[in-house]
Order: sequence, then C-alpha cells, then structure tokens
Amino acid sequence: MYRRILIANRGEIALRVIRACREMGIESVAIFSEADRGSAYLDFADEAICVGTAKSADSYLKFDRVISAAEVSGAEAIHPGYGFLAENAKFNEVCRSCEIDFIGPMPGPMERLGNKDLARQLAMSANVPVVPGSDGIISDDGEAKRVAEGIGYPVLIKAVAGGGGKGMRIAETAEDLSTALNQARTEAAAAFGNGDVYIEKFVSQPRHVEVQILADTHGNVVHLWERDCSTQRRHQKLIEESPAPNLPSATRTAMCEAAVRLIQNAEYSNAATVEFIVDSDNNFYFIEVNARIQVEHPVSEMVTGIDLIKSQILVAAGEKIPYRQSDIHCRGVAMECRINAEDPAADFRPNPGKITHMIAPGGLGVRFDSHVYTGYTVPPHYDSMIGKLIVHQPTRLQAIECMSRALDELCIEGIATTIPFHRRILREPAFVDGSMDTKFVERNWEHLSSRD
Ligand code: ADP
Repeated sequence: MYRRILIANRGEIALRVIRACREMGIESVAIFSEADRGSAYLDFADEAICVGTAKSADSYLKFDRVISAAEVSGAEAIHPGYGFLAENAKFNEVCRSCEIDFIGPMPGPMERLGNKDLARQLAMSANVPVVPGSDGIISDDGEAKRVAEGIGYPVLIKAVAGGGGKGMRIAETAEDLSTALNQARTEAAAAFGNGDVYIEKFVSQPRHVEVQILADTHGNVVHLWERDCSTQRRHQKLIEESPAPNLPSATRTAMCEAAVRLIQNAEYSNAATVEFIVDSDNNFYFIEVNARIQVEHPVSEMVTGIDLIKSQILVAAGEKIPYRQSDIHCRGVAMECRINAEDPAADFRPNPGKITHMIAPGGLGVRFDSHVYTGYTVPPHYDSMIGKLIVHQPTRLQAIECMSRALDELCIEGIATTIPFHRRILREPAFVDGSMDTKFVERNWEHLSSRD
C-alpha cells in the first residue's frame, strides 16, 4: 500500500481524500495556489505545497508543478479528485512515466471513454442501448440532414469532446440544423480544441440516472447502484439521490448490468460513472462515462456503506475489490444538496467573499462535506461549490424531512448561497412525489425563484 499520496485538487474533495488517507494510515500531501493559502483544510494534510498563482492554468493545472510537488514530497501516487486534471489522459500518462501512480484508470481507457463518440461505439458493442443517432462523427451538412431526417426532429448535436454542457445544441427543425451544427462545432473547438460533433435524437423531458461503478485491475467490476440527478438547472446538478425514485426494478437492474458490461468491455479499472437518460416510458439510453470520482459520490457511499475514495486507493495500488456484487446492498435513501456560493435571486451569479458566520448541521444521518468555516473567504477563481449536504434515512419522505431540517440548521452568513433555493425545491410537489425530470426546475422556475 502507498505510504504517501498527493492530492492534485483543492476544497472539499481535497479534504475528503485527506480524510480517507488518514483513516488508512497513509500520509497526505496537499497542494494549493496562492488564492488558497491559509485555507484550513491544508492543516489536515501532512504536508502542503504551493504550486503557483490563483489562476488554475498556472497552478492546479500545471503538470510540471504538480509532479514536482509529488516528487519532492516523496508521494507515490496522485489522487486527482474531480475537475482540474482528473480526466486528462496526458497528465495520467506523464504521472506514470515519472513512476507515480495515477489514482484512476489507465490512460488508454480514459482517453477512449472521454471521447463521447468512441464511448458510444463501445456501448453499442457491449449491447448497451444508446440514443438513436449518427454512426460516428458528422462530416457535412448533407449527412447531418440525412441522419436528422432518419431519426426525426428535434435532434441534439453533441461535441465528441464535450463536457459541462458545452458544444451541445438542439435543432428543433431542419431550418435550425445548419446553424446549430456550426454553433456546436465552434463552441467545442474553442473549449476543447476539437470541433467534431455527432447527432442524437433529442429525448424530451428525460431523467438523468447514472450508475456508480468500481473496477479493479484483476477484471472484477461491480456497481454500487444508481443515482438520480434529474434535479438540474441548465445542466448543472443541484440535488442527487439514490435510489432513483419511481424507477421500475427491472429497469434498474438492466441499467446497472449494462453499466457493468460497458466498463468490462472498456478494460477499465478504478471508479467510473456511467450516465444514462431515461425517457417517460422508462427506456434508458447510455449518454457518457465519467472516468473519475464524482461530486455526488457520497450518495452512493451512504446507501451502500462503501467508502469510494478508499476503494479507489486500494484498487489503484493493485488490490482486489474486497466484496462481491451480491454483498453490495442499497439501504434506505440518500440525498445530496450542492451548496454553492451563488445568488439564486440574481440568476445564480457566483458570490465569492468572506463567510462571517457559519454553523454546520448535525444529527442522525446528516453529513456535511465542506472545507469552509467562519472567517473563510471563498476565492473568486474556482468553482462556486462550497459544500455538500448529504442525508441518509430509511425512506425518501424521511430523507426530504431530514434534509429540510438540516438546511434550516446550516447557517452561512456573509455570502449568498443556494440554501434557500434547495428549501423551495424540497417543498415542490413534483419533487416530493419523485416525478422530476431534467426540465423540472425550469418548468417550476416561477415559484422556485420567488423569495420565501
Ligand atoms: P456534458 O458532458 O456536456 O454534461 P452529457 O452528454 O452528460 O453532456 O449531457 C448533459 C445533459 O444533457 C444530460 O444530463 C441530459 O439532461 C441532457 N441530454 C444529453 N443527451 C440528451 C439527449 N439525447 N436528449 C435529451 N437530453 C439529453
């Protein structure tokens, strides 16, 4: 097992990995930019090394600085967290060439699954249902038109290198097609340096359901059930939960098995998430694989009792997954609210600044994963998520009641946060009965955005 791990990340996920290392008797090395200097989570690591200025491109994303930090501190492995370098196959390769383990998949499977078109082809070869669409990359407008007519409008144009909703455009009719194609290509080329796109049928009012996978280097692949992440605003997840409400058990089983098949076929190891959309008739379709730990992983940890970060470290070090599929049970209901330093009353504008007062909630079944505290200043340079409030209860209704109570207790003063917005979502009838799809927030925008 590793003696020292460097965490190539910041904030709550860095703290989450530090905690796992501490419990495993592994020393942790944190890195920080000048904007994160003095952050209290750095005190929990065994060592903290500054890697550059506030701008991510000059610190957290700088290969040579991150790798030098690992080398000088004697770390044998790097945990990338999520975001930053987590899905960068080149960085993964450079780590390994410097004889530092990358806690994640090998570069080959990471690269193949990171390309949405290749991932889609892999899914088809593993007999996993995909959204009807083009046979690979679209070469010209004529081909796009033929494909769109074949599957029927509306269609979705998606960048093969896409992520975070970028490089994705809907074409409602044939008239929109050429403009949508150009916009998707231009946006993708600017954001990812790759303008290739493909076409999918646009599934109306889908639910977003994803399967958590864990795979070791000995060919064992298990799933930790699913998470429903339909409660989104503009493709940004707000609330995630497990199990997915109102999902027929046959669909659930088939989806989890499909996800395992895909990961087995990809010869992938470590943690992954296989994302699906589910239509109103409960048909599910593969959309993409995330080759890393995800923000919402605690939801799966709570229902299964399995520590995913520790599992990632174990399998990266070459150990076998210590449980069989039949040992992994989904107990009760877990729910997570993302607490962002954003102002819901001002179109979710980021609201960095000093937290003048903070009280974290507690009680049975309440978990708050966060690196912030009274006196902490949220820097303006990074993602605005400052914490994740997670509850675990026997039933979904109890989870909603517990989350409402915990949100009432969670006090963050000095900056605007998404707390009031979450409170309103939890009261919304369509959320309470579990019938939300990805457009639920937009549809109920009027009351969700009104003040209490
Ligand atoms: P990204 O990697 O940019 O986040 P995804 O492929 O994960 O892109 O899709 C993001 C979201 O877009 C999904 O959660 C879903 O809500 C929606 N989406 C993706 N594909 C489709 C589709 N074919 N039809 C309808 N909605 C879709």
